[in-house]
Amino acid sequence: MSTIPYVGRFAPSPTGPLHAGSLVAALASWLDARAHGGAWLVRIEDIDEGRSVPGAAEDIVALLGRLGMVSDREIVWQSRRKPLYQAARERLAQRVYGCGCNRREIADSRLGTGPDGAAIYPGTCRHGLAPGREARSLRLRVPDAGADEIAFDDRFAGRVGQRLALESGDFVLKRADGYWAYQLAVVVDDAAQGVTDVVRGADLLDSTPRQIYLQRLLGVPTPRYLHVPVVRNGAGEKLSKQTGALAVQPDDEAGAVAALRQAAGFLGLDLGRQSPGTLAAFREAAVPAWQRLLAARGEDA
Ligand code: GLU
Repeated sequence: MSTIPYVGRFAPSPTGPLHAGSLVAALASWLDARAHGGAWLVRIEDIDEGRSVPGAAEDIVALLGRLGMVSDREIVWQSRRKPLYQAARERLAQRVYGCGCNRREIADSRLGTGPDGAAIYPGTCRHGLAPGREARSLRLRVPDAGADEIAFDDRFAGRVGQRLALESGDFVLKRADGYWAYQLAVVVDDAAQGVTDVVRGADLLDSTPRQIYLQRLLGVPTPRYLHVPVVRNGAGEKLSKQTGALAVQPDDEAGAVAALRQAAGFLGLDLGRQSPGTLAAFREAAVPAWQRLLAARGEDA
């Protein structure tokens, strides 16, 4: 482990209440921070203001508190940090260009979709907008297909590599609706907050090479990454508001512990023979259980 003090984070998008899937990501990031004697931060990723639900962020923070997970520093809100994203865009200078294409035009180019399901951008506006076209979004130039893969060692998933030209193409930094894109905001904020370790759901594994590319261009450190499996419903869909995931709504401490134990079970934690009945007992059992899980994977926490 490096000597830089550990800083982890949980970064929910407040598009609805916390459900069993987001609780797994919250718990994993919290346990990893505690297991390393580090700080755990909560960041509200409300950059997509069109999708943010009023009150959802406050509800998530209140629920985390009832589950015993409290941010070690002041909570930051992406919607209040737009000047930072603008400054990063300026640092990227000539690598950023205006793109006039809409979704249909990109899909029509038939380059297929990347691992995250989004159509691969064919580079139509890379060398300037066609006459009469206006920029709708801002895109970042990625290395050509012949360049080296952008690779990293995920603490759970192992080696992951991507050639961005083949798997996303030049990607969006500022969207047609005027909001900064997740990829830029997350990189700027992880760097600004000194995050050393990102622990989050495996649905974001495919985004990580784009984030590492941005980190390199911006000259900021690349954190360590650990992507935990995502919770799926009976139909095999990732739990989310769209797939009708139920909110975690414990009535009392016993309910809070039950929700945490379920999340811990999903992560494969062995909490010992006596099921903890209080939040304090859960914490006492879960942190060493997480350390054992890391040790079994060859890490020393
Ligand atoms: N805001 C993202 C989400 O709720 C998580 C982003 C991240 O952890 O990097 O899915």
